Amino acid sequence: MTNPGDFAYTVKQQADIVRIVGEYVRLKKAGAQNYAGLCPFHQEKTPSFSVHATRQFYHCFGCGASGDIFSFVQKLENITFPEAVRAVAQKVGIPLPKMSYSSPAEAEEAKLRGMLLEMHERATDFFREQLRRPEAAHAREYLAGRGLNSEMVARFRIGYAPERGFILRDVLGKDFDEEAMRASGLFSWKEEAAPSAAGQPRAAVPTQALYAKFRNRIMFPIANESGRVIAFTGRTLSTDEKAGPKYLNSPETAIYSKSRVLFNLDLAKEAIRKLDYAILVEGQMDCISVFTAGLHNVIASSGTAFTELHAKLLGRFSKNVVVNFDPDTAGANATERTLGLLVSEEFQIKVLTLEPGFDPDLFVRRKGKEAYEQALRNAQKYFDYLIERARTQFPVRSPEGKVKAVNFLLPHVQRVPSRIVRDELAREIAQKLGIDSAVLSQELRHAATKRSAAQIKAPAEAQVTQAERILIRALASASQVQGEESRISARDGVDEEFEPARQAQFALGNERLHDGLATEGLLDALLQADLAETGADPLSLGLPEADQRLLAATLMQEDEELTPELLEGAIEALRRRHLQRRQRQIQVQIAEAERRQDSAVLGQLLREKLELDRTLAGVGARE
Ligand SMILES: [Zn+2]
Repeated sequence: MTNPGDFAYTVKQQADIVRIVGEYVRLKKAGAQNYAGLCPFHQEKTPSFSVHATRQFYHCFGCGASGDIFSFVQKLENITFPEAVRAVAQKVGIPLPKMSYSSPAEAEEAKLRGMLLEMHERATDFFREQLRRPEAAHAREYLAGRGLNSEMVARFRIGYAPERGFILRDVLGKDFDEEAMRASGLFSWKEEAAPSAAGQPRAAVPTQALYAKFRNRIMFPIANESGRVIAFTGRTLSTDEKAGPKYLNSPETAIYSKSRVLFNLDLAKEAIRKLDYAILVEGQMDCISVFTAGLHNVIASSGTAFTELHAKLLGRFSKNVVVNFDPDTAGANATERTLGLLVSEEFQIKVLTLEPGFDPDLFVRRKGKEAYEQALRNAQKYFDYLIERARTQFPVRSPEGKVKAVNFLLPHVQRVPSRIVRDELAREIAQKLGIDSAVLSQELRHAATKRSAAQIKAPAEAQVTQAERILIRALASASQVQGEESRISARDGVDEEFEPARQAQFALGNERLHDGLATEGLLDALLQADLAETGADPLSLGLPEADQRLLAATLMQEDEELTPELLEGAIEALRRRHLQRRQRQIQVQIAEAERRQDSAVLGQLLREKLELDRTLAGVGARE
């Protein structure tokens, strides 16, 4: 958020989004106020990314990315908001103030993050050095046994955490304070066990009480997108049960959020972009082996469940992914969730199933790169894979078996966002399962194209009528018309000031014409924000994602001039729809009243229906 008086506000006033975005994206003029180019946030061949010169925002009609100049730089460079403000200021040539954080707390945060990054860099070096020591012979043996040579160990900066927990503490304790060390996720401590003497405040736990969380473990650094180490995964070398889990991950810290990091993305992202697909494997060892074999577009979900953020992160580099973990294994639920998320995010997915007993690591080492590449080429499309599974699980020769197979497949199909693709899938399934019953195939297509309400994420933009779009534009127009000459309408021969926002507020506020529409939430938010009064930027209202997306898309397409006639036509159209909806409701209520033989209510309803019919006829006549 930027507010008048902020440094960020000043920068935003002086920066031209078209020029700055133009440094990253080749833009062409595409309308009176907008420019278009290829979206830097998703793969595309025809431009669906637009920049609005007057309103100073960008919006992609393909992936929905949207925001102001700071969010653009922030996303593209993968930096924080204050850093983006500084970067833009530098581009524009505005001298930087000493501190550009919006609050002392934010400055404190940034300072801590800087310290944690430094601490992780130092810890990485420490673990690598420890791996070379005589005491780490068993660790080196383990790595050799897993087929990791010194080149791989060096490239992935793999190290060893010694058994003794105080060495790392003493090393880092020289340069970092206790608070930062506690916040790093690298240490554990026991709270003072002995009760303190009565009346005595419990003493703070001294640095001496800290000990390393990772002990006697192979250490795999986890890097962020720009390659800086932000966390670790430690593989235990102890056989002792008390040693904890086999794989131990860093906890979430100020620099590490596991739902935002994909293992090896820093090294793989260029190859993913270039080859336009990613290989997704489960574990770090799989990832390292495949990468070392020369397939550089490989990433790992590294044990944590795949999230929507992961999918979005990966989607910035490619929307094609070959998943190479066995969806039938013990982790089937997590796997299915991962694949489901990728489907929802519109990835093209292939599933690579290796022969029994092989994981990617073993396969690459035993059979070599060529064999793995061959297997990748033969990977099955996700839905083909699912259909095959359905056919082996259910006896699809019988009608009951067909129904069971269809019900197994439907939830998967319903995750696909595109209605057209769902319809195509339904045809394909019908064909492959040999469904010749017209009724069943009709039911399948119907169920496939309809998605349950819980799964619908956004009001489909296609559902939004032109009339609703005009109302959205009208309500958002306040901040734009400021300073412009007020338009004069010659309607009724009287000069009249045209204030679209006020007029829309009046109509929607009094008559609730938008009740029950997909845009109800967005229109209500715009009504409440009262932009005509506050002059706020409609794009910074903090709307839910789907609404923000719809608003940005609508404002980007403001080519038709907003005239009193256009607005009035839109209000009339909504009014008509509103009345028609009421008409349908009344029809149902009348039928009910008839069944109950409730003549009093029936009479009242019939009168209302007559009134409605008359009004509707009048509204229709003016069309
Ligand atoms: Zn895009």
